[in-house]
Amino acid sequence: MIKQYSGIAPKGDLLLIQQLCKKLKGKSFLHINSTREGGGVAEILNRMIPLLQGLGIDARWDVIEGDAEFFDFTKKTHNALQGNSEKYTKKMWDYYYEVNRRNRKNLNLDADAVLIHDPQPAPLIEYRHRRPKSRKNVWMWRCHIDISNPMASVWSNLKKYVVKYDTAIFSVSKFAKSLPIDEFIVTPSIDPLSDKNRDLTESEINEVGDRLNIPRDKPLILQVSRFDRFKDPIGVINAYKIVKKYNDCCLVLVGSPASDDPEGEAILNEVKEFAGNDPDIHILMLPPDNHMEINALQRMADVILQKSIKEGFGLTVSEAMWKEKPVIGGAVGGIPLQIVHGVTGFVVHSVEGAAFRIRQILANPEMASRMGQRGKEYVRNNFLLTRQIRDYLSVWYCNMNKGKNVIEL
Ligand code: UDP
Repeated sequence: MIKQYSGIAPKGDLLLIQQLCKKLKGKSFLHINSTREGGGVAEILNRMIPLLQGLGIDARWDVIEGDAEFFDFTKKTHNALQGNSEKYTKKMWDYYYEVNRRNRKNLNLDADAVLIHDPQPAPLIEYRHRRPKSRKNVWMWRCHIDISNPMASVWSNLKKYVVKYDTAIFSVSKFAKSLPIDEFIVTPSIDPLSDKNRDLTESEINEVGDRLNIPRDKPLILQVSRFDRFKDPIGVINAYKIVKKYNDCCLVLVGSPASDDPEGEAILNEVKEFAGNDPDIHILMLPPDNHMEINALQRMADVILQKSIKEGFGLTVSEAMWKEKPVIGGAVGGIPLQIVHGVTGFVVHSVEGAAFRIRQILANPEMASRMGQRGKEYVRNNFLLTRQIRDYLSVWYCNMNKGKNVIEL
């Protein structure tokens, strides 16, 4: 219920949501992505859909289904859009479209607003319901990944679908593309009331620490991420190894599988091998619904890293800041939007830079605590779920009324 956010989220966001809901009450709002569990998109939708329903919006969330061949293709495409060079055949693109065509039979795509998340379900736009002008629907494509420097042929194949939408939404302005449709910037968000982020008691935190065998007698460095090369788990271990020469500390790398990410297991094995038999490196693969465990680990940590080398937004950064932790993040994607360098944490460009900042934080607990407090307020003002709901409803409302008594821009 939106009322529960009163006193936690900025009041202005709650007032705007109330007003927008007066206009949108009873209308249907369909979200489609490619996984119910794992990764930031599922994390947000899990929390946002019930809240929208509580606001009187007929919100639904569906997931497209695919086989291993489809998800290998879409992960390859994810990597290519984030700048990797990959090999493609026409047959692969045909299969991508074909899986979307099959999915359409099991999906009810008739809604007043449809928000399609990421490239996997993008071709569903071909099955848009044509409605009379008075009941016009709005189709929005929401891109969560960094497509600032994509493999050109892959973007041009995807773009064929994107331009058929009414609107494209990006997380960071530098990801936006030159498109003939309207574009909006909406940053992702965290839910302060979810199990992932709610306050925990000392005994809840200790119980998780004991159960997962996390040492509490030395400083703890943490990174929470899918096992994905762009999250740079090897770079995190290298930074820890530098720090370890000077400070006794331990490193926890925690990840969970995502059904639309087939590379996780192979990368986990690489990371384990690289870590060797250092008893102070703890590599955990937790089920994707272990939200309270992640929350407790983040609260146990002295320093939290998100040392990505490519990143869409990096929800884990805001999650850590909400827990008043200083965060060290790679200077990529949405991370610099969240970390105000030197104020709420540090943005770094190398393993050595990360190691230097870890040591600085460990040596200055007062600075760390000040950064943590500022970080929490920064998240409160910018990255809570209520702000994202406000933005989605605004973009929808704006599209619904497009062309009505407004100045042509
Ligand atoms: N996450 C989790 N368990 C894990 C690893 C990640 O619950 O073992 C969550 C994490 O807390 C965050 C989301 O998955 O809410 C990851 O979102 P982010 O934007 O950081 O990265 P993505 O995976 O979407 O690239």
